[in-house]
Amino acid sequence: MLVMKFGGTSVETAEAIGRVAEIVRQRVAMRPVVVVSAMGKTTNKLLAIGHRAIAGEVAAALAGLAELRDFHLHESDGLETVTGLFDQLSSLVNGLAVIGELTPRATDALCSFGERISSLIVTALFRKRGIDAVHIDARDLIVTDKRHTQAAPVWAQTNARLAKALPDLASAHVVVMGGFIASTEEGVTTTLGRGGSDYTASIVGAGIGAQEIQIWTDVDGILTADPTILPGGYRVKVCSFAEAAELAYFGAKVLHPATVLPASEKNIPVRILNSRRSEVEGTLIVSHPPASSTPIRSIACKRNITLMNIVSSRMLMAHGFLRRIFEVFDRFETPVDMLATSEVSVSLTVDNAGWLEAIRREIETFAEVSVEENQAIICLVGENIRNSPGVSPRLFTALGGTKARMVSQGASQLNISLVVAGGDLVRAVESLHREFFRSPDPASFAF
Ligand code: ASP
Ligand code: MG
Repeated sequence: MLVMKFGGTSVETAEAIGRVAEIVRQRVAMRPVVVVSAMGKTTNKLLAIGHRAIAGEVAAALAGLAELRDFHLHESDGLETVTGLFDQLSSLVNGLAVIGELTPRATDALCSFGERISSLIVTALFRKRGIDAVHIDARDLIVTDKRHTQAAPVWAQTNARLAKALPDLASAHVVVMGGFIASTEEGVTTTLGRGGSDYTASIVGAGIGAQEIQIWTDVDGILTADPTILPGGYRVKVCSFAEAAELAYFGAKVLHPATVLPASEKNIPVRILNSRRSEVEGTLIVSHPPASSTPIRSIACKRNITLMNIVSSRMLMAHGFLRRIFEVFDRFETPVDMLATSEVSVSLTVDNAGWLEAIRREIETFAEVSVEENQAIICLVGENIRNSPGVSPRLFTALGGTKARMVSQGASQLNISLVVAGGDLVRAVESLHREFFRSPDPASFAF
């Protein structure tokens, strides 16, 4: 069996779904299970409608809903089941307007319509093109805890349901299901977090022991540099699960960070492919890729990072300093991405600066704090870093006059990360890319 996941842009219109159908048709012999996202930007639109409704802008909410309905009915040629779902959605939106509150549970109910509708449309359009597709509701298969908007799978039950339902069905049909959506044991709709359809594909692939999990998207695969910062990077032909996970955590948009885990545990290869250029081989992610003579696999970046410097002379050599700092971050549920410490000072970065002022005030009761906004993290990722002497000197030479505010190499030696001022980001990435991909190993990179 094969799991094929198609993201929002791959199913954004009937025409795009037509391309997807041809891609799937060529692989019918491999018994594909097709996982789809909501069409285009539907999830964002649903959330905007929900927020309008609870803000008392009911007319605007209903206008947005009508537009979404017209679009889906147009693309699906007036599919009856879609009309039914929009009627339910309309009741929900009216209900939200009355209650005036969008709880996490209601958010999941609202967002779930994107994938519930898209998966029905994809099934219908496949059938119209002569593919024997059947629809299955992902919420009957993926069981999660109750952490709405960020739910985690309950593995035993999910795997049992997947193993019971899918292999038989997939032996005779192309199975189509929505990504992202799931339900609790009690049957309440949940979601796996934004971008979670990739994760669904991986959960399903691991659950049925698929031969391969394919993530079909709108880029050629993982590239050696973020194309929004440095166009013209090379395609990474093959990388490891650990490298892919690291890249996803550090901002590479191609893959949802949680995706790698279920696949790597079952050692199922993941392949990232472009639904608009299906002839390109994409990026293959496996446990142990062949050795490469290039130390770095890819350069990931995160923009709009805040750097916090904390200094305490009073706490010099005292124990408990770090604990006190992290307790504050913990209380405000704010993750810290990078960290560097010396005897008296700590520098750290945060991505989500929503609570930063409050955090700062608390830490200022026992240390001096300064904050620098608009910083960027550059992360050089590659398992080969640990076997390649001289990566750090090359890095500093390449940076030239660009100042690195912080540098860290984790114990895993899977990455070297540095913080630069936002305005230096493009120049720094260009220099690093030129240095490390001067003569990339053709076995690992396509150019
Ligand atoms: N539709 C969901 C989102 O936009 C899930 C996904 O596309 O992966 O976050
Ligand atoms: Mg996506």
